[in-house]
Amino acid sequence: MTDRHISPDVRGAAIKLKGAHGSCYFLQDKRCRIYNDRPHFCRAFPVNVFVGWRIQLNANLSCRGIGLPGESLEDIGNDLLNGFGQERLASETATAGRVFSDFIRNCRDAAVSQSFTSLRETGKLLGDELVDPLGLSRLLTYAETGRTAQNSPARDIVKRVRRTDPEANIEERALIDGTELFDLPDLSLLPVYVDEQLTWRIYRLVGKEIVEYALAEDGKIDERLRTDPSNVELITMNGGAKAAMKDYVGTVNSRDCFLGHAAYLCDSENYDFNFAQVYLGALANNALDLWWRSSFLAHLKSKDELGPAEIREGLVFFDMDLLDLPTIGAFI
Ligand code: SF4
Repeated sequence: MTDRHISPDVRGAAIKLKGAHGSCYFLQDKRCRIYNDRPHFCRAFPVNVFVGWRIQLNANLSCRGIGLPGESLEDIGNDLLNGFGQERLASETATAGRVFSDFIRNCRDAAVSQSFTSLRETGKLLGDELVDPLGLSRLLTYAETGRTAQNSPARDIVKRVRRTDPEANIEERALIDGTELFDLPDLSLLPVYVDEQLTWRIYRLVGKEIVEYALAEDGKIDERLRTDPSNVELITMNGGAKAAMKDYVGTVNSRDCFLGHAAYLCDSENYDFNFAQVYLGALANNALDLWWRSSFLAHLKSKDELGPAEIREGLVFFDMDLLDLPTIGAFI
């Protein structure tokens, strides 16, 4: 590691501060040992800049410090943008804009295109379906089987989704996808949940059980408990939980990086599906993933109903991973 790597002025350079199992090398007793010289990325956290066909600021909602007094996300965002300078931002946007133009042309050639505005409008109109078991089943079935003409208006897509038979078994999918999440041999790749006491918890599938470990800063792991994932069901959400989840899904629907992720999926599926199917399928899968993670954490605390606080915990566990998804466009 050189001075340059930890200079707060270096932007956009890749840095690797990994200690054991991915914890930061400079972390000690839950404090940063180089706080005044911490790198640019840490200064900006939880705000980051996404460059797609335009520039958008995102906040990482996994951060437990969001909303604490004395911290203005807007100020951090403005500092970030000023620090990059107009020239760099213009050049990054021109590069990413070309990739998006290629994507749009490919969609048009395959007759699967959909305007970004109508996709977002559709996501908004389907907000209730995205937090409801039947609605999620309809959306996932539509994503796989619904035929959609290119450039359909939002209201037509919504009608099509609402007319779809809800064939997808969401309990089964949530369990399979949720369990797969923890089926990785490398501990540093497992999703991290930072609990209320700021202890890092990681979960790994071992045989047929999910094992919870507390991860210490020196990389030592301490087994806490074991649970059988087949006992984890999607726990019923009360009205407050549904409102919290709808609010979050609305945020995801407005993120350019998420649209870029759906574009990435559309491209990797060889433009076989209308972009609306891919986009809504990804939105529904993310809502289901958040519901399952919230249920998983609540199950460990023996809760039998999800309220807004349980969804918030699920979000702390989830949003970090969502912002890590492969995407067209880039965080700089
Ligand atoms: S702020 Fe956190 S991640 Fe950044 S250098 Fe310090 S300890 Fe590491």
